[in-house]
Amino acid sequence: MTTKILNISFVLLVIILNGCTTSSGIHKNKLQKDIILFVIKDVNIIPMTKENKIIENATVVINDSKIVSINERIPDGAKIIDGKGKWLIPGLIDMHVHTPTDNNYKYEKSSPTQGANVFIDTQDVMLLYIANGVTTVFELNARAPHFSQRNEIAKGIVIGPRMALAALIDGGEGNGRIANNANDGRQAVRSAKAEGYRFIKVYSALNIETFKAIVDEAHKQGLKVLGHIPDAFAGHLEEVFIPHFDMVAHTEEYSKQSQNKTTEDAKYFAKLAKDNNTWLTSSLTTMIWIGKQLRSIDYVRNSPTLKYLHPLTRDKWLTSNSYFERTSPEFIAHIDTFIDFQKKMIKEFNDAGVPIVAGTDAGIPGVVGGFALQDELGLMVDAGMTNEEVLISATRLPAEWLGIDDEVGTVEKGKYADLILLDQNPLENIKNTQTINGVFVNGKWIDKNRIKKLLSELERKNSKNQDKFKWKERMNY
Ligand SMILES: [Zn+2]
Repeated sequence: MTTKILNISFVLLVIILNGCTTSSGIHKNKLQKDIILFVIKDVNIIPMTKENKIIENATVVINDSKIVSINERIPDGAKIIDGKGKWLIPGLIDMHVHTPTDNNYKYEKSSPTQGANVFIDTQDVMLLYIANGVTTVFELNARAPHFSQRNEIAKGIVIGPRMALAALIDGGEGNGRIANNANDGRQAVRSAKAEGYRFIKVYSALNIETFKAIVDEAHKQGLKVLGHIPDAFAGHLEEVFIPHFDMVAHTEEYSKQSQNKTTEDAKYFAKLAKDNNTWLTSSLTTMIWIGKQLRSIDYVRNSPTLKYLHPLTRDKWLTSNSYFERTSPEFIAHIDTFIDFQKKMIKEFNDAGVPIVAGTDAGIPGVVGGFALQDELGLMVDAGMTNEEVLISATRLPAEWLGIDDEVGTVEKGKYADLILLDQNPLENIKNTQTINGVFVNGKWIDKNRIKKLLSELERKNSKNQDKFKWKERMNY
């Protein structure tokens, strides 16, 4: 009898010690009791509040998913993290991503009961964000599977960022929901709301009447609107700036509207945006990646982060690259003028006081989730923003725009413990946001050794499966 109990205990112990047994290694085992009480000692907090006064040598207590105190009593039984000489900032927010999902590529010729034929391990996708300290993302072409991903995270099956979801509405023969008149536009907004969306993304092929109806209906329904500047506004850009068109989803939307890409144009656009309170998402890294792969696919092939992608995505980027397939010297020159102009615009919009939020368009070939946001922050500084302004654009401001600023975006008592512990001060050099010692995701601590291990496991898994996935054969899986 005693032996039997011992044996069972031994089995339990082995499970507890090994934790999980899943491929990605991050899933929690039901038998494993997660540590929920943490104290970070002697840390320098960069709170990213409006005053943003650094709190030196502070003690931060995290219980369950929240920051429960700063510089108060240290509770018993907590796991202590030494913060000496380190810097604590809020988790980063990427305001423009496209996360891959399970997909039925056989759709046209499949049975009505056919599910997906290519599956994505959500943890593999989300690990890349977490590894880079990105604890909230804004999915700008959200569909039903993104709700499932968000639920996997909410259930604790996957450790990943908070996900805000925008439903896309386009005109013509375009993407997502299609609306080509005001009534259809309004109905598309109401349907999106009924499906659970809180944000609407407007897209390029909408006509003027439909665009205006969508923005108006969204406001009535309590949804915020962001997105492209529809092509229909070319030549009369002023008309797009109507109340409650809340944000332009990337800087290039303005570049398309400028003939000569002058500083005067940049200033003029900034004034229009400022007067209408239309915010801007940066997305500089996307355009740079487009410029690179127009020149050579080797930029993508040799990218150090390519190994973290699902093999099917990797193969698509290399063998069916939508940019490289259309390359020409004229296209390259065109994109180069965009890149220059976008830096100019970031500076002018920032000087004019237009709120800018960091966003990457991760999912565009070359732009790898999480890592891309780290690149984006550096590019925003290069364009003329201060280190502090860039940090604000990736923490407090996006939280405000999304309406979750009472939950995340700053390091304050009562907020969720979405935090990055850095070895070096990011106010001195923005690249220091890459000196990650560990990340708190909704109160769960993942230190740099664990991040490193998980990334190398993912790399190994992807390379093992590389030959199994060919983009051109995806219908056959
Ligand atoms: Zn996008």
